[in-house]
Amino acid sequence: MFDNLSDKLDKAFHILKGHGKITEVNVAETLKEVRRALLDADVNFKIAKDFTTRVKDKAIGQNVLTTLQPGQLLVKLVKDELTELMGGDVAGINLSGHPTVILMSGLQGSGKTTFSGKLAHYLKTKKNKKPLLVACDVYRPAAIDQLHVVGGQIGVEVYSERDNNNPVSIAENAIKHAKSNGFNVVIVDTAGRLAVDEEMMNEIANVHKAIQPQETLFVVDSMTGQDAVNTAKAFNDRLDFDGVILTKLDGDTRGGAALSIKSVVNKPIKFVGTGEKMEAIDVFYPSRMAERILGMGDVVSLVERAQEQFDEEEARKLQKKIAKNEFGFDDFLTQIQQVKKMGNMKDLVGMIPGASKAMKDVEIEDDAFKHIEAIIHSMTPKERSKPSIIDVKRKNRIAKGSGTKIEQVNQLMKQFDQMSKMMKMMQGPGGKNLMKMMGG
Ligand code: GDP
Repeated sequence: MFDNLSDKLDKAFHILKGHGKITEVNVAETLKEVRRALLDADVNFKIAKDFTTRVKDKAIGQNVLTTLQPGQLLVKLVKDELTELMGGDVAGINLSGHPTVILMSGLQGSGKTTFSGKLAHYLKTKKNKKPLLVACDVYRPAAIDQLHVVGGQIGVEVYSERDNNNPVSIAENAIKHAKSNGFNVVIVDTAGRLAVDEEMMNEIANVHKAIQPQETLFVVDSMTGQDAVNTAKAFNDRLDFDGVILTKLDGDTRGGAALSIKSVVNKPIKFVGTGEKMEAIDVFYPSRMAERILGMGDVVSLVERAQEQFDEEEARKLQKKIAKNEFGFDDFLTQIQQVKKMGNMKDLVGMIPGASKAMKDVEIEDDAFKHIEAIIHSMTPKERSKPSIIDVKRKNRIAKGSGTKIEQVNQLMKQFDQMSKMMKMMQGPGGKNLMKMMGG
């Protein structure tokens, strides 16, 4: 995510390192590089210029040069300013109304249908809501089918009327249907076009007027950079929407859309999409994103994701097993599956402070655990529960069965051994504190 921008900003701050005494010239040079980094990320020229002017003013105001660590202070000022640029505080979603009506807008291909599904899934699983998805695209039957597929995946009902070509009446009927069937959120997916056109704008404006949504969300593909900003402006002029959804943040987007949209339409980014799966939705936190961009990681999100996957019952069972020395490869597999549920590896590494930079050139496989899982699956149940019986002969068989090399099996055995030892240590007298330190 925003790798290139992170890289360039890191280089900009390098100017300040290695100087015994930092001068005004060094600071000006750094800020020039910061501005260049923003422009390279496809941030609008004026926004980038204003950005560095504000940082400079603050730096002068706070007498950066006379502080003990001017470099660090400057990084902080840039971080604060990036946070502001992306909206400052986190913006929640308005769930008032009976039912809450949410209208989705955006161009075709922006990820509107996928996001409608993600939002329904999020509201159902995290907010205990009963959402109804509504297909209002009267031009493309395939779009209706797609929403039905999405609804099927997440167990959410989809309302559609294939013979009705009036999106306003479909949306109104859907809300009636929701009211009489106990749905408390209605998410209306509308037709998109490949580019902004008058007919589409009129259509969505009519739907908007008729159903008076509590939330009108504008979905935009973050890969489209400056174009994203222009589209946002066109939609905002007509709909005066409430919030922005940035999709495809998992791709190698330069970051321009995320950094510019708030300044242009003055509407907050509420959620981001980070993948094709229904779980790949995140609430947008401007300060956490700023920290990630500056390579400071995002420990808060990482811990939150870990907590979401944390199952107390499972943890207790695991502790008992460790205490009795019964921790085996099946448990190891369960642990791996829990970590996998937290998201893809690249994304997780990006949340660890400094790791993104350190691992920049390391190819992180999408499925980093593939080999480990294959090896464990090739073990017999007995081998999994009592790894000490795995001798060279068995190792050879396991390597063959899993399509790996004996070195890989050896390496896994070694890792497993270390992990078991560490877990055992954490059970000991000092362990409780260690657990506490790790948030347990
Ligand atoms: P719509 O035309 O606006 O409804 O767009 P779709 O929901 O059909 O999405 C267009 C394409 O983008 C599909 O192939 C989706 O799987 C993909 N997509 C949507 N959101 C994301 C995302 O956050 N990340 C990635 N990588 N792909 C996405």
